[in-house]
Amino acid sequence: MQLKEIGEFGLIDRIKNIVDTSSTELLVGIGDDAAAFRSSKDHLTLVTTDVLIEGVHFDFDYFTFQQLGWRALAVNLSDIAAMGGRAKYAVFSLGLPEKIQVESIEEFYRGVKELGDKFQTAVIGGDTTQSPDRLFISVTVVGEVEKEKLTLRSGAQVGDAVFVTGTLGGAQAGLQILKSAMNKFPPRGGIKGGVSSTADLKRGVLIDKHLTPQPRINEARFLVENFPIHAMIDISDGLASEINHICQQSGVGVLLRAGDIPIDSATREAAAFFKERPLNYALRGGEDFELLFTASEEVANELQKKFREKFGFECVRIGTIKAPQDGVTLKTLDGKFIPILAKGYDHFGTE
Ligand SMILES: [Mg+2]
Repeated sequence: MQLKEIGEFGLIDRIKNIVDTSSTELLVGIGDDAAAFRSSKDHLTLVTTDVLIEGVHFDFDYFTFQQLGWRALAVNLSDIAAMGGRAKYAVFSLGLPEKIQVESIEEFYRGVKELGDKFQTAVIGGDTTQSPDRLFISVTVVGEVEKEKLTLRSGAQVGDAVFVTGTLGGAQAGLQILKSAMNKFPPRGGIKGGVSSTADLKRGVLIDKHLTPQPRINEARFLVENFPIHAMIDISDGLASEINHICQQSGVGVLLRAGDIPIDSATREAAAFFKERPLNYALRGGEDFELLFTASEEVANELQKKFREKFGFECVRIGTIKAPQDGVTLKTLDGKFIPILAKGYDHFGTE
């Protein structure tokens, strides 16, 4: 059987069937953003891991080593955030092709350190080995969460309000700018190397969203410390895919309103330039590393207000959790109700 016949999630299910285990210490095994097990009376240890391969997840045409180091850690911190936790330690393993210079590897770890310092996450080990022709990066992050603050994908309740932090689609727009001839969108306004127009600035913001995503650890901690958050996931594969994970694992349906999905003006302009629909960037693009979460209707207004006061940007309400028979549904801009298919980024290209 070919991998593309069952896809990434089909493969995960099969692996789970072979290795899944249960113990009184293990609270979450395979199938959430991170695993969680009891490490003391009140605390749980979180573990998550990610692999990045040159030519699949990144390209040196547009990544510096420093940005790559940042990003490799950021995607893992985002998974720890999605569980409501803090990231504590990271282990990096690199497969290094001969072409890579020592200075480049140092630059990579400067990017790791820059982000790690922001969230008190320390690199405590790893491994390096030779790789035939491409750089291979494996990162494992260990985090911690208070038992009562652990937030899973499976906790959504009928009637919950559904929120996302920040805006969606920007990382995908940024990637498309990087992949296309960068100097075409928008027309360069200024002197080479400097930001001298609004157009340059907007392009820069989208590119940064892709290259150096901001993990929402502080935002997640604020949410779980101040509000009863029922379910949470980070948006790595696109809103469509992530909302399906929450609905499947919580045994609920959802109604999202397309008009409420937050997409910023830079992303809309990029979408118009590339003749794409901005909503598609948000639903299918992924890699925004924002948080998608649910909380009861009663706390919705207070939560949004407090979040805005604390962080200076919005967490936007995009829909409501429904009974399972209502399905996973989007109310489109022209008032139609359509199913949201779980077609995010699939790592084995089953789409
Ligand atoms: Mg995740």
